[in-house]
Amino acid sequence: MISLHKVSKSFTGVPVIQSISLSIARGYIHGIIGASGAGKSTLLRLMNLLETPDAGTVEVNGQNLTALNSKQLREARKSIGMIFQHFNLIANKTVYENVAVALELAKYPKDNCRKRAMECLQFVGLESFQAKYPAQLSGGQKQRVAIARALANHPHVLLCDEPTSSLDPHTSAEILTVLADINQRLGVTIVLVSHEMEVIKSICNRVTVLTEGTVHETLDIVPKGIQATDRSANHFVQQLM
Ligand code: ATP
Ligand code: MG
Repeated sequence: MISLHKVSKSFTGVPVIQSISLSIARGYIHGIIGASGAGKSTLLRLMNLLETPDAGTVEVNGQNLTALNSKQLREARKSIGMIFQHFNLIANKTVYENVAVALELAKYPKDNCRKRAMECLQFVGLESFQAKYPAQLSGGQKQRVAIARALANHPHVLLCDEPTSSLDPHTSAEILTVLADINQRLGVTIVLVSHEMEVIKSICNRVTVLTEGTVHETLDIVPKGIQATDRSANHFVQQLM
């Protein structure tokens, strides 16, 4: 589904991602874990070319993104949703408008926009919040709106950058349940970046450990199921065993 081949990225001469080759298999929930500054967010942003690699290729769904022009890349990105730690909602737009804007930008057929946006809000259980503004929502509700927006264009892949890091353990568990549901019911491949092994272990079936911009190891794991996460559980390499 996603295939990185010898991808490198430096910022101001400092190598942050060093010749990484990595495959994310279709249908998986693939975790990426590592210490702060290991390059997790950069690696994720390379997967939809929000960061342009200095070297190497990025393939998503059989398409080499690194060979596309900007119009083709915009088209390809419709099938790659993304969510973030701080939700990135538009403060002066309603919940409904925050989802609809993704459809408008993607030139979704106008007549179907309302129906599709409401479908996505229903999926995350927020259809009755459509007229509220982000400031009127809890953190968990904001993340659900961000998820609805990311799903709007029927993505094949959902890239998640620390989606539960700003949330309390109970709300984290709820959001992880939504992600597992998206994977199982909609067949969306998920890449989940986290620095917490408990988050990764709850829903991922494979994990890559990133150390200083290189892949330390990739392991298959059996997801444990979702529990409220233990924030003290941070010593990730040992906990894989
Ligand atoms: P965290 O767990 O804190 O989110 P991370 O593993 O996601 O960390 P990245 O955000 O990918 O790490 O950053 C890796 C390194 O690259 C850091 O040293 C960071 O300062 C640097 N970096 C990331 N983006 C940029 C940028 N746009 N310009 C300059 N340096 C950057
Ligand atoms: Mg990060």
